Amino acid sequence: MYPPVESVNPATEAVIASFEQFTPAQVEQALVEADAAFRQWRRQSFGERSNAMRRAAELLRSRKERYAGLITAEMGKPITQAEAEVEKCAWVCDYFAEHAERFLARQPVQTNARLSYVAFEPLGVVLAVMPWNFPFWQVFRFAAPTLMAGNTAVLKHASNVPQCALAIEEVFRDAGFPEGLLRTLLLAGSQVEPIIDDPRVRAVTLTGSSDTGSRIAQLAGRALKKTVLELGGSDPFIVLADADLGQAAKIATRARNQNTGQSCIAAKRFIAVESIATDFERRFAAEVAALQVGDPLDTQTQIGPLAREDLRETLERQVRESVGMGARVLTGGGRGDRKGWYYQPTVLADVTENMPVFKEETFGPVAAVVRVRDADEAVRVANDSAYGLGANLWTRDVALGERLARRIESGSVFVNGMVASDPRLPFGGVKRSGYGRELSSYGIKEFVNIQTIWIAEGSQAASGPQSE
Ligand code: NAP
Repeated sequence: MYPPVESVNPATEAVIASFEQFTPAQVEQALVEADAAFRQWRRQSFGERSNAMRRAAELLRSRKERYAGLITAEMGKPITQAEAEVEKCAWVCDYFAEHAERFLARQPVQTNARLSYVAFEPLGVVLAVMPWNFPFWQVFRFAAPTLMAGNTAVLKHASNVPQCALAIEEVFRDAGFPEGLLRTLLLAGSQVEPIIDDPRVRAVTLTGSSDTGSRIAQLAGRALKKTVLELGGSDPFIVLADADLGQAAKIATRARNQNTGQSCIAAKRFIAVESIATDFERRFAAEVAALQVGDPLDTQTQIGPLAREDLRETLERQVRESVGMGARVLTGGGRGDRKGWYYQPTVLADVTENMPVFKEETFGPVAAVVRVRDADEAVRVANDSAYGLGANLWTRDVALGERLARRIESGSVFVNGMVASDPRLPFGGVKRSGYGRELSSYGIKEFVNIQTIWIAEGSQAASGPQSE
C-alpha cells in the first residue's frame, strides 16, 4: 500500500485533501485510454484540434477564479499571480491553436525525386512529469504544442498539487477532446519508472530539478525514448556601471521574488560592477524590504509562504552556511513569526563564488549580490555556474549588452528586462538546466517524427481517394 497523495496548504500547514495513489490497474487503464485516444486524435485535422484547444482556453478564462484558488491553496502562490498564471495558460492554448498548422506544414526539398519533403508526424503518448511551482503553466506550456501536434499525454504531476492535476484533466475533458487524451496519474515519483518503460509511451518530458532530470534521462535512455528536460537554474542578473540603477533595482526585486522566489528563471545571482555596487545594493535592499509578505489569498500580498517545509529548510541552510562564510544580510535573513512556511525576502551582500547561495540553486526569496571589477569579469562570474537557463543584463549601451549576451552560456538573455517565458519564443536551457526547447516553432517539433517522404521520378501520381 502506497502512502496517499496529500494536498497541504502551506499558509496554514493544514491537510486540505488526500487521494489514494493510483493502483497499477488504474495506470494501465490510463495508458490504454491515452493510446486509444492517440489513434483517433492523430487523424483529426488541425482545424478540429484548434477548435478543441480554443475551447480549453475559454474554459480556463471562465474558471479563472476557481483554478487560481486551487493553485494558491495547494502551493501558496499569491492569488493575483495565480490568476495571471491561469490567463497565461489560455494564451498558450490560443497561440498554438492559431499557429500549429503553419509550424508543422510540410517542407518541400528539391532532390532528384519527383517529390520529396519533410513531414512532421506525432509520436504517440508522451509522459509529462511536472513540478508544483507553476502547477498550471508548466503543464499547459508542454500540453498545448504537444497535443496540437497530434500526440496524447499522461501527466504525472508533483505530489503536492493533486487537485491542480485533476483540474487540468478536467479542462481537457470539458473542452471536448477525445476521452483519455490527457490523463492524470496520481503517483509518487518513485512509481514512474515502469511507465517510462511501457512501449505505448513514446517520449518523456520533465520539468523539475536537475537531479530528477538526470534520473529520468537515465531511465528513458535505457528504454531509448526521447526526452526534453527543463531543469533548475541560477540565473545571473548583471548590472553594469552605466545601468539605470533605479529601474534595475525595481526589476531585480520582481525577477527574484515573483512566485515567492520559486521560479527556475528567477534571477538568483546579482552581479554588480564595483563602481555602482553599493548604490545598487542600497536601492535593491530597500525595494525588497518593502515587499508585502502575507496571506496569499489577500490581493495585496506579494510574498506568500514557500510551498513545502523541506524547501524552507534547504533555503535556511543555504543562507546560514553562506553567512558563516562571510555573506552580509542587508534585509531579511530568517523565517519571521507567521504560521506557515514563510521565509522573509532577503538580500545578501559580499557573496563569493564558493558560497552555497552562489553555487546552488536557491528556490525562495533570497538574493545573492556579488561584486566584480568590470563587464568581462561579470560575464566570467555569470558563466561560473553549473546551470544555464536564463540571464538578465543591464546597461544603457545596448550594442555592448548584445555583444555580452552572446558570450553568456544560457538558453536566453534579456537585456534591460526580466527573463520571462513567452509562447512566441523558445524556452529551455544548457548545462545542468537541461536540454530541448518548449514553446515557439521549436517546442512543437520536439515530440514529432521528422519524416522524410521521397517519391521517385516517373512514379504515377495518386489518383484515388487518399488513405492512410
Ligand atoms: P523535483 O523534485 O525534481 O520534482 C519534479 C517532478 O519530478 C515531480 O512531479 C516529482 O514527483 C517528480 N519526481 C521526483 N523524483 C522522481 C523520480 N525519481 N522519478 C520520476 N519522477 C520524479 O522538483 P521540485 O523540487 O518539485 O521542483 C523544483 C525544481 O524544478 C527546481 O529545481 C526548478 O528550477 C525546476 N524547474 C525548472 C523549470 C524549467 O522550465 N527549467 C521550471 C520550473 C521548475 P513528486 O512530487 O511525487 O516527488
